[in-house]
Amino acid sequence: MSDAGDRYYQGSGAVPLKGTLLMLVGGLAVVIPSTLVYAWGEFHVSHQKLKAIIAIVFATLIGGAVQALARYGAVRSRLFAGLAGATIGALALYFAWMWFLVIYFQWNLQVLLIDPGDLAKLVVQMVNQGVWQRRGAAISPTELSFLFGGEALLLIGSATLMATRNSEPYCEACGKWTKPSPPMALPATDSDGLTRELENERYEALLRLPQSPATEDAGISAQVYSCPTCEESNYLTLSRVDVKKKGKDLAVTTTEFLTHLIVPHDVAEWVRRQRTAALENTSSGPVSRT
Ligand SMILES: [Zn+2]
Repeated sequence: MSDAGDRYYQGSGAVPLKGTLLMLVGGLAVVIPSTLVYAWGEFHVSHQKLKAIIAIVFATLIGGAVQALARYGAVRSRLFAGLAGATIGALALYFAWMWFLVIYFQWNLQVLLIDPGDLAKLVVQMVNQGVWQRRGAAISPTELSFLFGGEALLLIGSATLMATRNSEPYCEACGKWTKPSPPMALPATDSDGLTRELENERYEALLRLPQSPATEDAGISAQVYSCPTCEESNYLTLSRVDVKKKGKDLAVTTTEFLTHLIVPHDVAEWVRRQRTAALENTSSGPVSRT
């Protein structure tokens, strides 16, 4: 039996120079103006909850931008993408503070010349002087370090995590990310047995499963990732879908048990076609969801 590992997509882990530059230069191009708007907002808003919401929205936007840059730059190494994301997150934090101080000191642009170490010292000094106040009283340094620490964690964490989210297989021949099909529902079956059959290229094991309508019932969910250009790159992912009754609600858990298995084009087509057929079936009559 050949090594089952060879049957799965293995990312090249490539980090193209274009992708590196795109992430760093593009990251700065996003970070510098957006942190100005963010700092301006945080400076003028005094309501604590609204401040927190602004920080969450901003961290999400930076994360989204980082993910888009890693994707467009075809960065296949998730480790590198994560490191670049962390760097961009840290830069965002730095620029946010810098702009905040520029605004605080009545748009004094000389703040831009302060080196990062002195910038941190200045912030500590401002904390101790009680610059941040709530209802006329200074907010304690402990609470401020908790708030500022949380903001830092949120920004850097979001940029790092989102950067690593491009996990679809990449078609090296065409230079394109594969596209996932919508998930298709199949009836429950022995997942270990099915995995063994598929690893040994006995695709009938999948093809002979009876077609089941796309309902919330427990079973198997199949998804194929295919290159939009060629017919060579097709990968199959299978998950077990378990439905448990929790009082009145149904708790659905999805567990992936086969990830990015290399499959021929016709198997990928079959999954896509079955999906369409299943949808046509369910739309022609009432669907029971009990
Ligand atoms: Zn391709």
